[in-house]
Amino acid sequence: MGVPVVIGVDLGGTNLRVAAVAGDGELVTLHREPTIAREGPDPVIRRVVTAVDKVAGGVVAAGGSVRGVVLGAPGIISRSAGTVVASPNLPGWSDVPLRDRVAAATGLPVLLENDANAAAYGEYWRGAGRGCGSMVLLTLGTGVGGGLVLGGDLWRGADGMAGEIGHISVEPGGRTCRCGNTGCLETYASATGVVDSYRELSGVDEVVTAEEVHRRAHEGDANARQSYREAGRSLGVAFALLVNLLNPERIVLGGGVLPAWELFMPAAEQELRRRAFAAPAARVRFAPAALGDLAGVTGAAGLLWRDLAPAA
Ligand SMILES: [Zn+2]
Repeated sequence: MGVPVVIGVDLGGTNLRVAAVAGDGELVTLHREPTIAREGPDPVIRRVVTAVDKVAGGVVAAGGSVRGVVLGAPGIISRSAGTVVASPNLPGWSDVPLRDRVAAATGLPVLLENDANAAAYGEYWRGAGRGCGSMVLLTLGTGVGGGLVLGGDLWRGADGMAGEIGHISVEPGGRTCRCGNTGCLETYASATGVVDSYRELSGVDEVVTAEEVHRRAHEGDANARQSYREAGRSLGVAFALLVNLLNPERIVLGGGVLPAWELFMPAAEQELRRRAFAAPAARVRFAPAALGDLAGVTGAAGLLWRDLAPAA
């Protein structure tokens, strides 16, 4: 006996993931392949359509049904128009009507969502944010992404641009960010930011990665340890803002910087306690993300399951 599913799609700059997700959040099938984003929109959309068709075909062959498809895409998207407006991770994409093209080719109802929002909802629904009413997700990777779940619902803001936590100013007049601002959280707390701090502190020009800085920190390199403390301090400034503004129950942290948790979190929590009101700072709990690279597909599908559920 097959089950009804929603197909969640996570269209990343590097990997494309497509999953059939049951109403309880179980991943019935999962398909992964490289996005090959450099080829531009048309081949990528063909790969999305082929993968959705393959997953949907498998569900139907097993006696199940597909309730709809939710596409999580990176960058600036318009949910109402169903377009990818622009995306640093998808070269050549400019006002691409992704939703309607996938809907026309598959014959399935399709929705479009921002990928960071989908990941935040995924962690809230089935991951490290389960059971709490308000959760903030921060993804510390090459950049810093984020998403807000407030009162059990995704907070998208007036233009779908909410949750850009990586671009909170933590250092007036600090490093120049790719967004045009200076002193964004991302320029200190991302993997790139950690490497920049290490280069500044040690005066090296050699090519180093965040993993290398992490290794050196464990070997006792003072500059490497200081680089992670800098990341932690800037995170603490952002945590204080989030805690005073939103009083969230949980802040979930994901991304490639996460294995260095013990190198940056003490500084982050110290900075939080110094800056935020005592009660919400004591209330908030920090947790590592639980779903890894499946948060996006899970959350994309979860958002439609939430809409399909009869109102309580
Ligand atoms: Zn920025």
